[in-house]
Amino acid sequence: MIDLHIHTTCSDGQLTVKQLLKKANSEGISVISFCDHNVLGAYQVLDNMDLSKYRTKIITGIEFDFVFKHKDFHMLGYDFDWKMMNKSNLINTKSDEEIIQEENKKLTFLKEVCRKQGIKFDEDLIISRKNDKSSTVMKYHMMEFKENDKILDEMLGKNREKSFARGYVHNPNSPFFIDETIGLPTAIDVANLIHSCGGKVVLAHPFDYKDINHKQYIQDIYNLGILDGIECLHTRHGIEQIEYIKCFCQKNNLLITGGSDFHRELKQTLGYGASGTIPITEEYCLKNVDNF
Ligand SMILES: [Zn+2]
Ligand SMILES: [Zn+2]
Repeated sequence: MIDLHIHTTCSDGQLTVKQLLKKANSEGISVISFCDHNVLGAYQVLDNMDLSKYRTKIITGIEFDFVFKHKDFHMLGYDFDWKMMNKSNLINTKSDEEIIQEENKKLTFLKEVCRKQGIKFDEDLIISRKNDKSSTVMKYHMMEFKENDKILDEMLGKNREKSFARGYVHNPNSPFFIDETIGLPTAIDVANLIHSCGGKVVLAHPFDYKDINHKQYIQDIYNLGILDGIECLHTRHGIEQIEYIKCFCQKNNLLITGGSDFHRELKQTLGYGASGTIPITEEYCLKNVDNF
């Protein structure tokens, strides 16, 4: 078994590099890749570790955000010179404090909109943890006030099942809209960087987006002529989607990869895709699909 998509505490994962490596090693996973969001901190950590006692092999990896048609998408890079890539300005060097500060700025904006919309909130509400998103914090905060029940019934449904982030904060037609794609690189920018560091460019989980035409998206990015492969087996890809990607990759001579997109236990299983039902075999380790 392998797992080419794992997040560590260097971005928004809950386990450290060492905890994950130990876990992968004890579960008999032969190859892994840490793919944190826009950072290479995991490889800095590994550089200072004695890896000789682990049988699990590590391939360098990263997951970049890029903007395409005004939306935020993800691109994976594999098997590159990380020290070389680490010098690029596409690598996020913001401190935890700066990240928290930026999220609080967005929270201030959301409060302002709530005020105008007559939604009750506490002026003292503040974000103090690195991975807390303003949209999530605000959603649960608004839900604390009985006075907001009526308006939230309309906005988020009676069971509050709708996503405040997707329906409002990331929706250009909503007063809560925050354009999070400002300053993001394009797919070509990130691909050029990965290639210049000797790596492979792999489109991350193309079916794991809401409100887009997924097959068109795959074709559009393929048409840019930058892809070496597509992430095929993924926690949130279904069987049909996996088969579709395999076919597409076979037709276009692309590599296929597989990863759990592990952030925390309960949500993903290391070494398994398709909601934890399919083991990620060596077949998904940056290989060409010949026959299936
Ligand atoms: Zn992703
Ligand atoms: Zn990911």
